[in-house]
Amino acid sequence: MTPEEVVALRKAHFFPCTQHFYRNPPVLVSGSMQHVTDGEGRVYTDFFAGVSVVATGHCNPAIAEATVRQARRLQHTTTIYLTEPSALLAERLAKLLPAYPRVFFCNSGSEANEGALVLARRHTKRRGFISLTESLHGRTSLTTSVTGLSMWRTDPFPDDHVYFIPRPYEFGLDPQEAAERSLSALEDVLNEAGDNIAAMIVEPIQGNGGMIVMPDGYLARAKTLLERYGVLLIADEIQTGFGRTGQLLASRQLGVQPDIVTMAKALGGGIPIGAFAATEEVAASLNVPSASTFGGNPVSAATALAVLDYIEAERLPERAERLGTALKRGLERMRAYYPHLLSEVRGLGLMLGAELYAGDPARGAAVTDRVLEEMKDRGFLIGKNGVSRNVLAFQPPIVIEPGDIEAMLEALDAVLGGIEQERLKEEEAAEGAKTPTPADDVSAGGSGPAGKEPFLSQEAANGGRPE
Ligand code: PMP
Repeated sequence: MTPEEVVALRKAHFFPCTQHFYRNPPVLVSGSMQHVTDGEGRVYTDFFAGVSVVATGHCNPAIAEATVRQARRLQHTTTIYLTEPSALLAERLAKLLPAYPRVFFCNSGSEANEGALVLARRHTKRRGFISLTESLHGRTSLTTSVTGLSMWRTDPFPDDHVYFIPRPYEFGLDPQEAAERSLSALEDVLNEAGDNIAAMIVEPIQGNGGMIVMPDGYLARAKTLLERYGVLLIADEIQTGFGRTGQLLASRQLGVQPDIVTMAKALGGGIPIGAFAATEEVAASLNVPSASTFGGNPVSAATALAVLDYIEAERLPERAERLGTALKRGLERMRAYYPHLLSEVRGLGLMLGAELYAGDPARGAAVTDRVLEEMKDRGFLIGKNGVSRNVLAFQPPIVIEPGDIEAMLEALDAVLGGIEQERLKEEEAAEGAKTPTPADDVSAGGSGPAGKEPFLSQEAANGGRPE
């Protein structure tokens, strides 16, 4: 099918909420590790991985083989009958995450968070929740209620027992100051309503909120405050979990042990699965019959076991840290060269974001769309997120190669260089063909005239290479 045909069918039959990236979107028909191919045979290097999903690569042979083997043997009966894969997966997760010996399997991130929130209510016998502004936790009614990002709050009648506190981030503000402000708001809410609050839910790195890493010490201090009021901490590890940030759980990496963790996306490597896991004490409160038709089905569970085997065998967390450091360094250097365009680079491991025109987010959003389109035309799929949709998102399959990162940075440099040249031309035209002054060059932070030459070609001229 042509892209036009697919768009026409989606327009005709999907709900009007459905969107797609790109003015000229490709139809993706196959994938292999860090690559996807469209219907016309064009190959793209995927730097978005379906928002962190295919961390282990598209159609990874070892994982696809496990899926197919199980699909040929036994697909599903009911989770009330005994089958092996989900039992083995539960045991495996408990070994990998010993703080959380008990797990409940479901089918998506939203369902995992919904289950975790309900578990917290059962455990504390309280109704309320605390969440951060600009968070995203899912699409069910309760999870949209604890979602701070307005564009994802689809339910017009959200649960009204949710207290939002400012996330510990503001562009240009010192992270520790932002943390203090957020923690002081947390303390106020706890003082006022602590007796009615079951849990606080947090993404260790806000993904859709624009790759906002919780500052040093923030989560541990929040946990101490919460404990004082008997309030649980839920870490939403749906984007961060299973190695992307450099460890299996970003919450542990950021120095906290939550009471409940939720997972989905990367655990299934492209096959739907969700789960929430808890301490023995908290899990004991889910002691009434509860089951999911497909939660822990043999095909998803066998796939997840193969995903975990691959993550361990290939040491993907270490790889994410190593390659993430290289990618971040490259983006940072580009930011120094294009300071008008790139306001900030942030993130951890292979979960990185670059914000465009923070001071003018509407312009940033338009330029972000242009960068995405031009990068796609050059063979690279990157994502976007952020409150104003002006943050480039880099969260590739962790199996990506160093050469892919270099090639992507080169393409990004060419795209940003083109945009910067246009901006300078427009400025010059507006100022009556006035050439940039040395002061402009200094403000650009680069060694040459700002944006006149792409950054990497300058580097090459200097005999240097981006790391
Ligand atoms: N939590 C986070 C942090 C997410 O990023 C998402 C999805 N982007 C969800 C929850 C919801 O997951 P799902 O789409 O699988 O329901």
